[in-house]
Amino acid sequence: MQLKVYGNREAVELVRRMVVKDREQRSIIIHGDSGLGKKHLASYIAASYLCSEHNGQPCGVCKSCRMIMHGTHPDVIYVRANPNGNYIIDESIRPIVADSAVMPNESRYKVYIIPDIDRSVNTIIAVQNILLKLIEEPPEHVVVIMTARSKEVFLQTIISRTLSVGVSAVSEQESIEYLTENFPQAAQQDIDSAVQAGRGNIGRCRQYLENGGFHDAVDIARGICDGLLTGSEYGVLKAVFAADGKKQLARQAAELFSEIARDAASCCVGNSERELSVSCYEQGARRLSAMLSSAGCSRLYDTALDCVGRIDANCNLSLTLSYFAAKLSQVVK
Ligand SMILES: [Zn+2]
Repeated sequence: MQLKVYGNREAVELVRRMVVKDREQRSIIIHGDSGLGKKHLASYIAASYLCSEHNGQPCGVCKSCRMIMHGTHPDVIYVRANPNGNYIIDESIRPIVADSAVMPNESRYKVYIIPDIDRSVNTIIAVQNILLKLIEEPPEHVVVIMTARSKEVFLQTIISRTLSVGVSAVSEQESIEYLTENFPQAAQQDIDSAVQAGRGNIGRCRQYLENGGFHDAVDIARGICDGLLTGSEYGVLKAVFAADGKKQLARQAAELFSEIARDAASCCVGNSERELSVSCYEQGARRLSAMLSSAGCSRLYDTALDCVGRIDANCNLSLTLSYFAAKLSQVVK
């Protein structure tokens, strides 16, 4: 892991000021969508707090920074949930409270990083109630950093005692910079395609290049769009059925396609430049908007969301996909 944060200048500056003024916040919530780098920012904050240079950002070369980069710092503790994302109170949360009374091994602080609290559906309240004690009266040496997609999952009593830091999407230029530095083997064309698909979400850009599920979902969403643009019912069906038997993939592809349709609708009503920055297929969205009215684009959008709803309601996937493809093709007829 490298200790560099792309974009998110406000957050980086906030951390810098806290450290140089010796006013490190001891409980922090980092919130923002998946893929925007919440856990990375948590590690960055830990490194900034513990770096022996103490100048507001991790130097990347001192012993402490190197240990954090290698994930071996004894005073930076990543708390783990079970495979379903739930924190087991007696296994992972109570032990933190007990351990927090023990002095750090070699640093000023002991940093507990508790990621994805919002995924701990079964224990989300219990986790916070137990952590509250630690957050209300933290020992001098304790720092607690929690992450979640939304701040709203936190109890008011936690929020009122915590610094909230939001992470946001990065610019196209920053995405390119990130991918070029981290995927030196990747061809320029693939990097461009990943940047287009990820739209400032570095996690998604990475997933795209690593050929994960996101890559396939983007291909399907783009394939649907191309099928519609060429008036090929078969093309739409073929694209959609690449997700047959794969519920998560189908859901993600339908969602991505809904974003393309939303961009197209937005383009129809004249937001052609700045506003068009959501979907994974900007060219496709522009061409759809030239072919359809805004009402037509909105119908595509509604159809895609309807498909997501049916998938969530556990409807038969093959039937849902056939219905989805047919409904979409009707719109362009
Ligand atoms: Zn350092």
